[in-house]
Amino acid sequence: MRWRQPEDLRTIEQLLDFYRQADEAILGKLTDLDRTAISRLSAESRQLAAAYAGLAPRQLAARCGWPVIEESLTVAAGRLHLLGECSFAPGRQPRLLINRRAIDAVSHHALKLVGDADSAWFSPAALDDLTIAHELHHLLTGHLLTGHLLTGHLLTGQAATTLNEQGAHIFARALTGWPFSPLVLPALLQRRSWPSRRRSGI
Ligand SMILES: [Zn+2]
Repeated sequence: MRWRQPEDLRTIEQLLDFYRQADEAILGKLTDLDRTAISRLSAESRQLAAAYAGLAPRQLAARCGWPVIEESLTVAAGRLHLLGECSFAPGRQPRLLINRRAIDAVSHHALKLVGDADSAWFSPAALDDLTIAHELHHLLTGHLLTGHLLTGHLLTGQAATTLNEQGAHIFARALTGWPFSPLVLPALLQRRSWPSRRRSGI
């Protein structure tokens, strides 16, 4: 899968509107995936989410018997944001981890950029849910990766660009009711130099 730069997004509003589009439209613009592949991936991911409709991500994890472990990790001296990870080994309980340090850092950065109308979606609690849902998709579908990055692909240019990652993003968005594609997170992280919507320190 090859990635393209998004269209010229000059303001935070334009950026948020771009990632508020349907997943099919976003992937169609950002990748070289064909429409059939995008439609199939989107449909499968949303069907799986619909099967668990009404369950919060933590509730779904509990129902599956998978504890959500919280740690504070620093990856690549803070240059990469590992929001969560999951792993599974035969005979061992699946591991579903959320990285408090990275989630709080990404939330802090996003909340400096987005307006009040969208701020609730970028709270640490909302990003916890999004991260848990993303990792649940990997565990539920058996597409297990160890130590993969949720938001790293646009920062590193190589990680987390697989089809499975996009399926996990679509699933997480559908399960949590998030209004944006989770791809908005690395996009926001790239906009460190944008003027803040809020006064710094607030
Ligand atoms: Zn993932």
